[in-house]
Amino acid sequence: MSKPLNILFVSSEVDPFAKTGGLADVSSSLPKAIKESGHEIRIMMPRYRFISERKFKLHDIIRLKDIPIPVGEAAELGNVKSSFISNLKDKVQVYFLDNAKYFGRDGVYQSPASKKDYQDNDERFIFFCRGVLETLKRLGWQPDIIHCNDWQAGLIPGYVKTVYGDDAFFKSIKTVFTIHNMAYQGAFPGDSFQKSGLPKEIFVPEGVEAYGKFNFLKTALYFADAITTVSKKYAEEICASDEMGAGLNGLLAHRKKDLHGILNGIDYHIWNPLTDELIYRKYDVKSIEAKIDNKKALVKRFNLEYNDTIPLVGAISRLVDQKGFDLVLEAMDDLMKLDLQFVLLGAGDHKIEKKFESYQKKYPSKMGVFFGFDDELAHLIEAGSDMFLMPSRYEPCGLNQMYSMRYGTVPVVRATGGLDDTVEDYAGGKGTGVKFEKYDPKELVKAVHRAMKIYHQPDEWKKLMRNGMAKDFSWEHSARQYAALYRELLKQ
Ligand code: ADP
Repeated sequence: MSKPLNILFVSSEVDPFAKTGGLADVSSSLPKAIKESGHEIRIMMPRYRFISERKFKLHDIIRLKDIPIPVGEAAELGNVKSSFISNLKDKVQVYFLDNAKYFGRDGVYQSPASKKDYQDNDERFIFFCRGVLETLKRLGWQPDIIHCNDWQAGLIPGYVKTVYGDDAFFKSIKTVFTIHNMAYQGAFPGDSFQKSGLPKEIFVPEGVEAYGKFNFLKTALYFADAITTVSKKYAEEICASDEMGAGLNGLLAHRKKDLHGILNGIDYHIWNPLTDELIYRKYDVKSIEAKIDNKKALVKRFNLEYNDTIPLVGAISRLVDQKGFDLVLEAMDDLMKLDLQFVLLGAGDHKIEKKFESYQKKYPSKMGVFFGFDDELAHLIEAGSDMFLMPSRYEPCGLNQMYSMRYGTVPVVRATGGLDDTVEDYAGGKGTGVKFEKYDPKELVKAVHRAMKIYHQPDEWKKLMRNGMAKDFSWEHSARQYAALYRELLKQ
């Protein structure tokens, strides 16, 4: 076998330490899968104040204390703590970059009270990106690859190629950048650029400037040795249109030969109905009847009445424009005419929450809502629902549709990005879910209606459930694709 690689994985959220969405799931399960395949991989993330020192047994790394990290004219001090994530077999070391001024807060990107982004997110993540590289040097551990994720880590490929371009320590390191969502770019006013310490000649429209702003994501797309995104379909979509490429499609199309679509997997140690401690009753494909006890527990939780013949439709989501809940709201009166029940777990846009709340009041016997972030309830919804609704406007990969299939919960999705790549429309006994194409409330209602028709043919429905449960969405395959990409860059 060829020699194992050393990889540093950089992310602003990693489950179970900090999570606002799927990035956290990926940033914990992908490194574990890469480690399992025989490589050395370590993670670096910010140490937000809410990451409990006791719960996660964080310990200081004395030799990584008070590292001066340039931010603008000043040098801010960074300290590094460490912990592990593990599955049954392997442990992955996690380094936390600590600085009370930037990360001693209760939110990840925004204040939980005001739901507004922190004003100094530019400085916070300049500090983080530069701090990662300064930490590496002091650690004396030289990775072959630095794998960066989303805009919060986007300056790293830029630093490696410019500020640290002549530094022997970084000379042979290659950078990989993964786009989890083009809509979040980290675009800041031009004067943020000075704080980065990057050379001023790159702040031009042909470089890291986009529409007059300093753009962290564009910096990564410009400098990274390879770019990946989380499904093949999304990789095509973001090159093809201004809307999907969020204004950076030109640069993406230019880098098309370095852009790879590698589908996310799911962590079967966490999302497996046979071992899931957070659900009411465990089951698998052989004991599929036990799923019904989870449905009973779930409807009870939402104060709805249990009825064997009525399908329960679940949804779990960040309530933001991308996820298509405007479509659900527009379709709500028509959906409620159908003989179904609907439960929603979501957090995000206050206006969307309010609208769902008023529909819940209008249809109290058919609909339940819970606003907030609740991991335990998320697991119960996956286990207890009959169908899972994901009507996204766009979806880089999406994880919940894959969790749903694993739990025998039939996904009803719009055919975009990773949803299109992972769900096969059911027909003639084949397929794993129900898909609709057009972003239109009528199409959504039609799709739910079609799913209900199958639901009322119990043998067909069981087949559909089983098809989904039999799918293999484990990380193994994707981890192999990442390792092959790393080797290609290193010419090993
Ligand atoms: P995104 O990353 O765009 O939010 P994904 O489908 O890739 O979408 O991942 C979402 C992850 O976050 C899933 O693990 C999902 O269960 C979880 N999640 C989203 N909203 C909530 C919530 N309100 N409570 C608990 N978990 C949530």
